[in-house]
Amino acid sequence: MILKLILLGIVMVAVYRFLGGTTPLTSPKKEQNEGDADALEECHTCGTYVTRRESIIVKGKYYCSKECLPG
Ligand SMILES: [Zn+2]
Repeated sequence: MILKLILLGIVMVAVYRFLGGTTPLTSPKKEQNEGDADALEECHTCGTYVTRRESIIVKGKYYCSKECLPG
């Protein structure tokens, strides 16, 4: 009987949501974004390591301060 299979599917999804809460597809992405801000990047001009949060990004390259910016 197909109805039994549908009911079983609904129960499976309900149990999965109850145990997992969030799907594994959405949570790792958020964690990765939070970690990226503290990731160290080398200044393209002087070689000083700065966190991505503190760095200045120009044309895809990282710089530690305004003095190291090109031009
Ligand atoms: Zn620098």
